[in-house]
Amino acid sequence: MTSGFQSRLTSPKELIEAGLAKPERLAELEAVAERYAIGLTPALADLIAPDRPADPIALQFVPDLRELIRDPAESDDPIGDDPRSPVKGLVHRYPDRVLIKLVAVCAVYCRFCFRRERVGPGSGTLSAADFAAALNYLRAHTEVWEVILTGGDPLTLSPRRIAETTQALAAIPHIKVLRWHTRLPVAAPERVTKAMARALVAEGKTTVAAVHANHPRELTEGARAACRRLAAAGAMLVSQSVLLRGINDDPETLIALMRAFVEAGVKPYYLHHGDLAPGTTHWRVPISKGQELMRTLRARLSGLATPTYMLDIPGGWGKAPIGPQWIHRGESGEHVVTDPQGAQHAYADRLGKNG
Ligand code: SF4
Repeated sequence: MTSGFQSRLTSPKELIEAGLAKPERLAELEAVAERYAIGLTPALADLIAPDRPADPIALQFVPDLRELIRDPAESDDPIGDDPRSPVKGLVHRYPDRVLIKLVAVCAVYCRFCFRRERVGPGSGTLSAADFAAALNYLRAHTEVWEVILTGGDPLTLSPRRIAETTQALAAIPHIKVLRWHTRLPVAAPERVTKAMARALVAEGKTTVAAVHANHPRELTEGARAACRRLAAAGAMLVSQSVLLRGINDDPETLIALMRAFVEAGVKPYYLHHGDLAPGTTHWRVPISKGQELMRTLRARLSGLATPTYMLDIPGGWGKAPIGPQWIHRGESGEHVVTDPQGAQHAYADRLGKNG
């Protein structure tokens, strides 16, 4: 398989020719492809052994007929971007930060994507006029401290376009933090060049790259080198993963994933509970199981390697950490705290006279 972003697989036929799906699945793959985009880059396709349909990398990108089954609770806008969008492409959900959806395309198309109804080829980038309107909104909202650049994957833009975006935002004095959400370091690490890394940072501002990966095999040597280029340019790196049934919903895989992030210089940040996006029921894990996995991570990993398990509340109400809880009140009102091995201990919450 050749390398490069242009040579990615984008059709059922190409997936079959690459040995990533059996020919008899063509009609099934085409039915799904009519609704949801396909994209698989060489960097990730090369990790998949042919004729291994249950490979955790393949499963994330090869369509499945279950994507066309919609649960009544699922929504085209599962995290409620639309009700919180005062101008096109901008979501203002929390007082001190906004999202700007710069681009609707990605290097790869994850079958569980929470914005799957909004991303895909041909969906385009935010127009110059729309970006100018977003900048005007930000200038007028001095409470905004952090801007999250997302999409789609904003690192699919050219370094020149990224630099223009960075500099335009950096010129607004009250904006102190630029956070770029991306899957590119694992999907196409060769595209994360020194020039791109430099384009993300601005003098006097903090740049954060939130790197999306779900399985430890995604953190290849190439991906780790891409992360190091981002760090060398001055970016702080944090992780984002989705808890996915059959991909990473077991302790050993999650532990290996979180350690791989830290080894790549990426602080494990969020483990997302799967959003209620259409056709994603087969991906979700019960919250009780997610909490149990988090208990195991806490027992076996340092705090440096432990993410927070998060749920985006449907309707646009924001994210909430969903446990497990480590402290509760006992029958007499005393604090009871659970240690990493699961044993419980009373804690006396003594305060000084001014406390
Ligand atoms: S890279 Fe992100 S936005 Fe793009 S398809 Fe995957 S989850 Fe969705």
